[in-house]
Amino acid sequence: DVLIRENVDFAGLMLRADVLAGLKRAGFQRPSPIQLKAIPLGRCGLDLIVQAKSGTGKTCVFAVVALESLCLESATVQVLVLAPTREIAVQLWEVINTLGSAMTALRCYTFIGGLPLAEDVQKLQCCHIVVGTPGRVKQLIEENLLDTSTIRLFVLDEADKLLEENFQESVNWIYSTLPENKQMMAVSATYPEILAQHLRRYMRNPTFVRLNITDPALLGIRQYYEAAAYNPQKAYDNKVKQLTRLLSSVNFHQCLVFSNYQMRAQSLSDTLNAHGWPATYISGSREQQDRLAAMAQLKTLQCRVLVSTDLTARGIDANHINLVVNLDLPHDHETYLHRIGRAGRFGTYGAAVSFVCVGQELDGLRDIAEKCDTKILQLPDPIPVDLA
Ligand code: ADP
Ligand code: MG
Repeated sequence: DVLIRENVDFAGLMLRADVLAGLKRAGFQRPSPIQLKAIPLGRCGLDLIVQAKSGTGKTCVFAVVALESLCLESATVQVLVLAPTREIAVQLWEVINTLGSAMTALRCYTFIGGLPLAEDVQKLQCCHIVVGTPGRVKQLIEENLLDTSTIRLFVLDEADKLLEENFQESVNWIYSTLPENKQMMAVSATYPEILAQHLRRYMRNPTFVRLNITDPALLGIRQYYEAAAYNPQKAYDNKVKQLTRLLSSVNFHQCLVFSNYQMRAQSLSDTLNAHGWPATYISGSREQQDRLAAMAQLKTLQCRVLVSTDLTARGIDANHINLVVNLDLPHDHETYLHRIGRAGRFGTYGAAVSFVCVGQELDGLRDIAEKCDTKILQLPDPIPVDLA
């Protein structure tokens, strides 16, 4: 496997026995290159900016550093992990709990919007690791329900997203309540330069841990596009036809379809179900319980196609997704990289197909390809069974 270097195992990183046991339970035998590089630096207490492409195991980097840093005897919050979406927060919590499963005293919980505050209060009775979204975490601190004075490690997953305008204020505010003396880790596949500068202001001489940034990042993901004549009245219907043709032509385990429009997600999911592909959808307008249920369906393989807005463009780890479709183009090349990175997790192979109309959309895609320094090929006709 390209991602695994022979001969180095987790035991070589001198981790606590219970953390090693957790890694074993998770089925992780050897550290990935980013884990090998970043875990030892993180354990030294350095502030880190970790950058590695999607699916290379960045969660395990901060999960291990967090678990290693805990003093379980003390019933205080010691680690705060922020994520930009509720779904990512839940997923991080699952990983931390799996890796920490041999630490019987460990208490790690999620704190996300859309769920009752009373449950949060209960969880905070004894909690070592808080994983949450900025809005809810800020609220808990404001209402004096969450005491941040004992936090020693602050993690921003999908850091560049958390520094974007809509989150920045909450994140800044949360940061301002933390003790001066703490460790900070920022993790993402992408860091636009201005956000990286912003991040550095939070940190003390941060160490950059980067991997393969000169690679056209997406080893393992074949990228295609299919262009159709521009017809404003029919554009959407045409794309749905292109999508159903694609799904019935290629072999895929699970597919993630991105639309820029919340309204379309549901109707498209209904259409796909009617065509016989078990599908569901997720968008900001759905109730939180339904969003979590949709993610669970995806992960337990009860659904083969998930239609989504950019809510799931980042961070979501579902091993069986090997086809990503852009029904609408993302607004920037970073989002394109995050979206297609949902396929090809941890060195597996996958394909990404973008449907564009000739004109503005096709030009937009060319621009994305150039900025990502990657090649996006025309989808062959007829479509081969094996795209990846
Ligand atoms: P990233 O955040 O870098 O996009 P994730 O942390 O979500 O990636 O991990 C991607 C996948 O790789 C997950 O399914 C995870 O279980 C798996 N994985 C991570 N580290 C290892 C490892 N050392 N050995 C085997 N699988 C791993
Ligand atoms: Mg991640």
